[in-house]
Amino acid sequence: MIGSFGRHARVDASGDGEGDDLVTAVECVRARWQHRLHSMSAISGLRVIRSSIDGYGVVATRDFAEGEVIAEVDGVLWHEDEPVDDRYSLIMGDGYFFDMVDQTRWINHSCDPNAEVEVGIDPERGGWAQIVALRPVRAGEEIAYDYAFAAEVAEPCRCGSPACRGFIVDVDALHLVAKPAAVAAR
Ligand SMILES: [Zn+2]
Repeated sequence: MIGSFGRHARVDASGDGEGDDLVTAVECVRARWQHRLHSMSAISGLRVIRSSIDGYGVVATRDFAEGEVIAEVDGVLWHEDEPVDDRYSLIMGDGYFFDMVDQTRWINHSCDPNAEVEVGIDPERGGWAQIVALRPVRAGEEIAYDYAFAAEVAEPCRCGSPACRGFIVDVDALHLVAKPAAVAAR
């Protein structure tokens, strides 16, 4: 499922057609958590820096092994019908998204990422997301994952990777935004 807005169009936490049950579960979780207060608490092992990729970025302050959870994302679950700023939101499927409210919102995109995002919605945890290392990450290395934007919201990419696709876009949607001549010229 490709969402029409938001940062991370590739992830879909539901994917099973049980939409009504999911909505009910999500509403229960939101009722339980709606008064929770959020603060920008520091995440151990990560630091926000001015990035060579774009704006702010996040670097590791220690080594992470392949498959290790780099960070549990602190976030707030929203529905697309609600008026909310979705610039730093993960798309969760079924119209839900997860606004990242900690340092992880500053993690940049890369077409050759060293991390990925796993997401889900369940009655116990509510909306959740975690950043997981795709390969060993050394202290000082910038953390990045593939935003996989839908074609409608694709942006030019400056990740600098030799594998750069030229656009921040889902790899399966690249043909919708990249002119064949431009791809051939790289
Ligand atoms: Zn790129």
